[in-house]
Amino acid sequence: MKPLQTHIYRNIVVLTGAGVSAASGLSTFRGPDGRWQHELLAVSDGHRVMEMLPEMWRAYGKARANLSGVQPNAAHFALANWQQKWGAERQITLVTQNVDGLHQKAGSSDVTEIHGSLLESRCTNPHCESKPFFDREIHTEVPMCRVCGAPLRPNITLFHEALPLDAITRVKRALRDCDLFLSIGTSGVVSPASEFVRAAIYAGARTIYLNLTPLDGPSPFAETLVGRAEEILPAFLD
Ligand SMILES: [Zn+2]
Repeated sequence: MKPLQTHIYRNIVVLTGAGVSAASGLSTFRGPDGRWQHELLAVSDGHRVMEMLPEMWRAYGKARANLSGVQPNAAHFALANWQQKWGAERQITLVTQNVDGLHQKAGSSDVTEIHGSLLESRCTNPHCESKPFFDREIHTEVPMCRVCGAPLRPNITLFHEALPLDAITRVKRALRDCDLFLSIGTSGVVSPASEFVRAAIYAGARTIYLNLTPLDGPSPFAETLVGRAEEILPAFLD
């Protein structure tokens, strides 16, 4: 495996998924073997948010509590150091499907979280003027919005819900003239990752897929690196 040679790229987009956080001892809730996955899945139906709020806060409260003891691993640190080293002279857009905040904890700034964040809450009232906010409190009862008094919910994209529009817009803009697209620790064939790689190919980018297992069937990616993100990234990201 040759190191990346970051200096030849101008506009890089990196997508990360559960595989990046696996070595930290947790999987995001869409991942294959999250310890709190079951409980979270049961309360993650976007069609039933309002009726599920008390159970949702119990489950997400536990997940938040869990998260406070979890540390970033070598994959998160490698990405953060790489961004710091190279990010001043080129655009590096870090996009994650993870909701665990571990990229930020490792020192990455400007992380685009397309599934939201376990460490944020937001108002359920669509007409409320409040914005999602940082909230690490473990709520035992449904918390209420300080602006409009409606119940709050975790700022996480649930099943049947659309991805946050501003985050998706930011990613699409970056993909439009990207010359390198890296997909790390995520299957890459599920939407929106599958659309991201197609957009990157359309823009003429080099496309690299890094995951524990190669994709089944024909891969849209030009190159594949098989292995653990925390083992490969420190050497690969020069
Ligand atoms: Zn509100």
